[in-house]
Amino acid sequence: MDEPIVSVTKNFVNLIYPLRCAACGKSLDPLEEFGVCRVCLNKIRQNPKPYSRSCGLFFFERAYSACLYEGALKELIHVFKYKSKISLAKILSKLMIDFIKENDEILYGIDIITFVPIQARRLRERGFNQSRTLALNLSKEFGIPITDALKKTRLTKPQNELTRNERLTNLKDAFKARDRLKIKGHTILLIDDVMTTGATLSECSKALLDAGAASVRCLTLARGI
Ligand SMILES: [Zn+2]
Repeated sequence: MDEPIVSVTKNFVNLIYPLRCAACGKSLDPLEEFGVCRVCLNKIRQNPKPYSRSCGLFFFERAYSACLYEGALKELIHVFKYKSKISLAKILSKLMIDFIKENDEILYGIDIITFVPIQARRLRERGFNQSRTLALNLSKEFGIPITDALKKTRLTKPQNELTRNERLTNLKDAFKARDRLKIKGHTILLIDDVMTTGATLSECSKALLDAGAASVRCLTLARGI
């Protein structure tokens, strides 16, 4: 008997607050599962092969991205992150989960999952860390423990607003490991929402390796293009 009650409640709520697609604003069927219309969902493009970056300049072993940071997905990530629409976590996590299921080498040998931290003041303003929410859903789905391994010691400027030289110093020593005992000897999967230059993931990986991690692999929901 649960189903009809849920439907009635959803329809009732929909009369007062019409449901709209979080990306394009179009009216949604009240039973639409993810809060995003099918047209927008179909527009989200998977990151084409080889999916990952690995290079001597970075501290991580490889960095994978599930999708491309553009169009509907860009809008969804923005609404999720800056308008705290946490209900979008379900579809955004699903995009990452489906990607992992198609590329099982991502989880090979992984002992723990962690995430890129945000600075304490920003966490208070936003109320949640979007990368932690995504990492938590991956941890639940694949049964791999999650650890709050890193902290951000100071506010930094958005990397895309800086020159090349400023970028190099902006993130320097901005991340620190919280507890070496939880990190030491482990192969870690580091989660973030978007990868642009790879500098943030690399600095976080460096902090984990400095604390004794065996190696760090990264996975982001989207990759800047
Ligand atoms: Zn839409």
